[in-house]
Amino acid sequence: MPDPTQHIAVTLKALRQARGWSLARTAEATGVSKAMLGQIERGESSPTVATLWKIAGGLEGSFSAFLAEPAAAPSAEPQAVLSDSAGMHMRVLIPFDPRWRLEMFAIDLEPGACSESSPHGVGVVEHVIVIEGALEVAEAGRWQTASAGDVLQLDAAQTHAYRNPHEARARFHNLVHYPAGE
Ligand code: MN
Repeated sequence: MPDPTQHIAVTLKALRQARGWSLARTAEATGVSKAMLGQIERGESSPTVATLWKIAGGLEGSFSAFLAEPAAAPSAEPQAVLSDSAGMHMRVLIPFDPRWRLEMFAIDLEPGACSESSPHGVGVVEHVIVIEGALEVAEAGRWQTASAGDVLQLDAAQTHAYRNPHEARARFHNLVHYPAGE
């Protein structure tokens, strides 16, 4: 599986420079420290999923842009997997498509995994489509359980979280919708 660290580094630098933002200005907009942003941009450190969401949100970009090249259609090529210490493994299934303003991920949660996410942005909605096992999802602190075959809709403009309290791996597809731009 390709390591996403370098692609994340290059993408962060390109998006930041396209805005003409310093690291300090980017730190202010994303809530991620200047030191951490510098490490990520130099390819010295791979962010957690939660940190990368903060960066994508602050730069008003899609999350998938950090893991995959934009493609006309989903591809069968092996995609980079972003894994973090929360026990979350994330892979792009559908890169952000500006026509429909959506992207889709396959996410694995290890047994005991818990990942908390800050709000992604006003109007961002997620569908959590459970493929394997069972997991719990919180929206604004309220937990709901979902098992294989279930679909939950999540207001991602709120603080939200995903956890797997079970002994078996949980896998879900995460369909993320972004509101129409100006
Ligand atoms: Mn989320």
